[in-house]
Amino acid sequence: MGFDSTDDMANADVVVLNTCVVRQSAEDTATGLIGRLGKKMKGNSDRMIAVMGCMVGPEQADLRRRFPYVDVWARPQEFEPILETAGMRHGLDPEGCLNGSVPENPNVASFIPIVHGCDKFCTFCIIPYRRGRENSRTAVEIVHEAELLVARGVREITLLGQNVDSYGHDLRPRIDLADLLTQMHEIDGLERIRFLTSHPNDMSIRILEAVRDLPKVCESINLPFQAGDDSVLANMRRGYTRSQYLDKIALIKQMIPDVTLTTDLIVGFSGETDAQFERSMDVLRAVEFSKVHTSEYSYREGTFASRNMNDDIERAVKKARKATVDEFQQEIQSRNNADLLGLKFDVLVEGRKRGRLHGRNRGDKLIYINPRDEPGAIEAKPGQTVQVEITDSSPWSLEAVTTEVNSEVIREKVSVV
Ligand code: SF4
Repeated sequence: MGFDSTDDMANADVVVLNTCVVRQSAEDTATGLIGRLGKKMKGNSDRMIAVMGCMVGPEQADLRRRFPYVDVWARPQEFEPILETAGMRHGLDPEGCLNGSVPENPNVASFIPIVHGCDKFCTFCIIPYRRGRENSRTAVEIVHEAELLVARGVREITLLGQNVDSYGHDLRPRIDLADLLTQMHEIDGLERIRFLTSHPNDMSIRILEAVRDLPKVCESINLPFQAGDDSVLANMRRGYTRSQYLDKIALIKQMIPDVTLTTDLIVGFSGETDAQFERSMDVLRAVEFSKVHTSEYSYREGTFASRNMNDDIERAVKKARKATVDEFQQEIQSRNNADLLGLKFDVLVEGRKRGRLHGRNRGDKLIYINPRDEPGAIEAKPGQTVQVEITDSSPWSLEAVTTEVNSEVIREKVSVV
């Protein structure tokens, strides 16, 4: 539309706050920021504040009453009212700005949301109430967006959904994630495809076959288990038992032997005893995940658990359980990463962090790439896939050098020989 971006929020003509409310603390941060912005922008009717994202549920009367100076409340992905209001304020035409809009300079590894909302209603989770029921985008729209991103330099795309495995069941004709992965695989210039977040009950054999059979689909899967005890799982209303979860993991390992597995776990859920927590630890010991995202359970207003269950595990106990998980994982990850020393991997270079190049291998391991100490060594560039050899490891990342050197230098060496 002709707007430029600025880091100076206090003086911007248009401020769009994109909110996350998965935790109460995130929502509190957002409301605090809206309040501060309102004070700064008071009395300046040319300037516009829009709030979008999960904070904006189907009912907005309460938000409008609390923050009367917010010009636009937009639900997740609801871009039109923001563009229309900004256009009216500044005499700009939003026509044509929305369809196929992708960032001008996207990251080499980018994300595309493919299904919004969730139909699962886990008792601790606010998402289905705020984002609504599952609503899949069409494959045509997603593939078009992916093609635009690839044309702007993107080489890896992660398909996103709260429950990405259930993609497409609400579309007519019905398709599934495996169909979409197959269509994405055809995109020239796209090198890698991933997807997040899976639900054990919806991770089908067809999806696993797509991961196994389509070379661009990376063999790395995030499969949350959340708890290792059956009664805690039932209280969470996750819809599977510990043994069903472990059976699914066994199936994945059997079909995709070199898979990298990560997971999500909640500690200190309502009523969780020490023995029940130990059963979560058993699952960690049995599977040896490459990474575990651990959360201490926190009360979230509006959820089934907030109305019907007590948040009765002391904070100190939750913290201690999380520390136990972290300590265990540190040990596992340090051992597993040390096993990779000397091995070679293809790494998609994503950019620089504190002056050092970094990227990921297909198994989603973070790898820092150091210059090779040799004349003519090639400096890898963001967007390139380079082969590296692992030289050092820590529980959280790996260090490597590129294995390739400049071909002219190789020729020189050969002629000297
Ligand atoms: S599947 Fe995930 S997003 Fe859906 S309700 Fe459960 S935790 Fe929330």
